[in-house]
Amino acid sequence: MSQTPYFDEAAKSATFEQDGQFNIIGVRAFITSCASIADWMDDLYMLLGERFIDARLYLSARRAAKRTVTALLAEFHVPDDPKSKEQFFAEFYAAIGWGNLEYQLDYAQKTGRVVVKNSFLAQGYASKFTAQGRSIATGAKSTITRCALLGAYLAAQVSNFFGEEIEMQEQQCAAMGNDACLFQVSHERFSLRNHHKQNES
Ligand SMILES: [Zn+2]
Repeated sequence: MSQTPYFDEAAKSATFEQDGQFNIIGVRAFITSCASIADWMDDLYMLLGERFIDARLYLSARRAAKRTVTALLAEFHVPDDPKSKEQFFAEFYAAIGWGNLEYQLDYAQKTGRVVVKNSFLAQGYASKFTAQGRSIATGAKSTITRCALLGAYLAAQVSNFFGEEIEMQEQQCAAMGNDACLFQVSHERFSLRNHHKQNES
């Protein structure tokens, strides 16, 4: 992975400032554990339900991700061809710890899927902090997919690759005990009506 230019460029741009202003690629950021994110998500799912939370996360992240895709491609001077873009986003999101993205896309049919290993949302689900503050793997299995936010980012990327707006539906999630999270290209607009229909049978 370290042989590749985008990974190195993103990873090496991280600056740890003594005054508390951590930056990566010039963006003010902060570091938190995946377990903490998953814990916040647990509360939201419990209070408001997965349909509302997944829709809310997906729709807001989808708008943000559309801007992010354009900005990142310009910032890193990524060549305007799909394979270069696939390589770039795989390396960039690996560098910032979101997961390992593998695009399996059919450009002629504008369909396909993205397989994500080590999704931060899924891995956080299966780890918890003990009362003594240690992070431990619990092996817990979710009954629902947990990575709608990641799916929205993938949808914005693949829409850019295809030159056509598509959506991404998470069909299996590592948090449910699968090896990886699997996101399928969908040409239906995201809505509460069709979301998760494949899991309801
Ligand atoms: Zn997942």
